[in-house]
Amino acid sequence: MAAGAEGAAGAGSGGLVLLGVVPGAPCCPHGPALLFVKTSQGKEGRRFYACSACRDRKDCKFFQWEDEKVSQTRLATREEYNRSRQPPCTHRQNVERYKNFVLLPLSKRRFCQECQQLLLPDEWEKHSSHQFLCDISAAQLRSPSQLLYPLENKKTNAQYLFADRSCQFLLDLIISLGFRRVLSVGTPRLHEMIQSKASQEDNFRVRSLLLDIDFRYSQFYTEDEFCHYNMFNHYFFGGEAARETCRKFLHEEKDERVIMVTDPPFGGLVEALASSFKQLMAMWKDTEKGGNKDQEMPMFWIFPYFFESRILELFPSFSMVDYQVDYDNHALYKHGKTGRRQSPVRIFTNLSPRAIVLPAEEGYRFCAICQRYVSSGNHHCEICNSCTSKDGRRWKHCVLCKKCVKPSWFHCNKCNCCALENHPCEQTDVGCFVCGKAGHKRSTCPSLSTSHQAGKGRKQRQETLRNLKKARLGVCRRWAMKHAMFSRRRIKKKKDGTN
Ligand code: SAH
Ligand code: ZN
Ligand code: ZN
Ligand code: ZN
Ligand code: ZN
Repeated sequence: MAAGAEGAAGAGSGGLVLLGVVPGAPCCPHGPALLFVKTSQGKEGRRFYACSACRDRKDCKFFQWEDEKVSQTRLATREEYNRSRQPPCTHRQNVERYKNFVLLPLSKRRFCQECQQLLLPDEWEKHSSHQFLCDISAAQLRSPSQLLYPLENKKTNAQYLFADRSCQFLLDLIISLGFRRVLSVGTPRLHEMIQSKASQEDNFRVRSLLLDIDFRYSQFYTEDEFCHYNMFNHYFFGGEAARETCRKFLHEEKDERVIMVTDPPFGGLVEALASSFKQLMAMWKDTEKGGNKDQEMPMFWIFPYFFESRILELFPSFSMVDYQVDYDNHALYKHGKTGRRQSPVRIFTNLSPRAIVLPAEEGYRFCAICQRYVSSGNHHCEICNSCTSKDGRRWKHCVLCKKCVKPSWFHCNKCNCCALENHPCEQTDVGCFVCGKAGHKRSTCPSLSTSHQAGKGRKQRQETLRNLKKARLGVCRRWAMKHAMFSRRRIKKKKDGTN
């Protein structure tokens, strides 16, 4: 519901520009805050810091104007608060607990579902009123992503787990490309598939390091297997030691080639992600003595296809792969074969598209002209001289637009471009996405410019935060709508008691 309202209002309402992580930025519990500036009709407004990780004020309410004077007392209170918001157990302590846990007989292995925690017998008492799972097996411990509740309702985490088929595909691809190490950034399920095979199959040589903001994983992995990390500000919660773990992992020994795989929350700020990924790439480059690698760290960035132009702008060496990534807990993002919807999620990579072999069983084929694998519905357009479909459906060429467009679009002479048949011409007769009133588009919405002048106080601050939230969610209206639809469905399902 809330997501729906935001989705409608969020409609790409720009107005907020990310300036990034700047030296000396104040910290919230999620590390250094990001600097933003609100713009209105080309003019820059006041700059402010906000939390890098949380898109919902409920999760982190940090806010500070750039030029705001913060008193010593407030700084001290803030530091105290930041400390109080850190997990109750350190990673080290969790590793110790795990060692003790696996020594217990099956009958004494419990997992508290409410606290999302492995319990040791002397803690049962404290959790006696909570729901818990019994007889936690070795297999369950190898699949923490199944044991833990996916934090999908929390916009901050947006945990959407790979369907088994997609996860297996990624791993097979990684292996066939000759990689032996995977830096898993926000991909706990891929990490656990690798870890699980490594512990069970003698000749399985791949290793993985998981970087994720979800600290619950520290219960299952050692400090060499998991780092508590924020991918929006490149922040290692475990400090220099954790950073060193990552650096060591990226150092390629002998033939142990490294690839980074990441599947960030889609609502996130692409620029912030890109900046972190560039720092991870730099870390990889630095590990080579002399730093003379003239290459980039190989990478798979998993993200919806409608972010293609923004990702390619930030990473010109990347290209989009046609493969549709499927998710387990995302009703809309399952594969289209059985009449279900197709997934809009793709792989962006700096590896040669030719090398990314897609499964023929799922209809993918090789286009000899484009020199890449494409989905079955993606036909090579003679005029564009490329396989132009982005969403897996067969696109058609419009001679007037001089490009291929979605099959559901028609050329509109009034708008002078292709659009859905029943689109509102020239947009002015539909309500503005920002204020809902007719007669103007969001880009010229008067409410945006007045709020800018509406004095400094709390009101403006709230407005700015609201816009921040919109900008983060917004970006793509269709995505926001889909997300809203999904949330609603999920809620309904929950009420039904099904899963
Ligand atoms: N498809 C993946 C999961 C992707 S969901 C898989 O199955 O393995 C997004 C992941 O990013 C989640 O694991 C979530 O905990 C993590 N995440 C969300 N925000 C993050 C942040 N700020 N920094 C690091 N990881 C984050
Ligand atoms: Zn925060
Ligand atoms: Zn082609
Ligand atoms: Zn065409
Ligand atoms: Zn057209």
